[in-house]
Amino acid sequence: MIKATSHTTMKQNELSRLEKTLREAILIDENKLADEIKYIGFKCRRCSRCCREEFGDNTVAIFPFEIKKICRIHGLKWREIVLPAPSQDVDPEGNIHTFEWVLRKKEDCIFLENGLCKIYGCRPYICRTYPFYLLDGKLMVSECGGIGCPISSKDSIKIALLLKERYIAEIKESISLLGKFRGFKPGGKGNVCVHDSEGEHWMANDADRNR
Ligand code: SF4
Repeated sequence: MIKATSHTTMKQNELSRLEKTLREAILIDENKLADEIKYIGFKCRRCSRCCREEFGDNTVAIFPFEIKKICRIHGLKWREIVLPAPSQDVDPEGNIHTFEWVLRKKEDCIFLENGLCKIYGCRPYICRTYPFYLLDGKLMVSECGGIGCPISSKDSIKIALLLKERYIAEIKESISLLGKFRGFKPGGKGNVCVHDSEGEHWMANDADRNR
C-alpha cells in the first residue's frame, strides 16, 4: 500500500512538472529563437551525413503519430519501419521495457536512397529540425557541416516554429505516456514492451534480425 501510494505521488509530481514545462513551452518566443538560429547560421548541404551510420549516431526517434503518417502515405506497416528503442529496463520475467520507437536502419536509415530521403515530405521532426533541438526550452546544436552558413530570416523563423512545435509534441507525448503508464509489469504477448502515448505495445524482439 505504501509502495502504491508513493508510485502514485511520484507520477502526479512528474505530471505536474510536465504540465508546467508545457505551459512554458507554449510561451517560447519563436522570433527570439529565430534570431538565435540566424546568429548561429545554417544551411543544409544535402550531404545526408545525419542519415548515415559512418558519420556517427544516426538513430532517429519517432513519435507514434509520425509513424502512422509515414505508414499511411507510403503504404507501409508499423513494424516494417520502426523498432523499439534499446533499453536496459526489464520486468521480473525478463521482458524488455522501453519508451521510444526508432526508425529501422541497415547501417544507414532505411529511407535513404542515392543520398536522398524517400519520405522527405513526411520525415520525422528530428530530421526536419536537425541539427537543432530544444533542451529545457534552450536552443542546442548538434554537429553539422552546415552550421555557420548564412540563413535568411524567413528560413530561421521556419526552423524556430518547427522546433517549438517539436518540443511541444515531445512534452504532450510524455504527458500521455505517463497517464497510461502502469509500471514495468509482465503479462503481454511477446518479450518487448514499448510504452508510448497510446499505451503498451507488446511484441517479439526482432531487433537483431533487422536493425
Ligand atoms: S527519414 Fe529521411 S531525413 Fe530522416 S534519417 Fe531517414 S533518410 Fe534521413
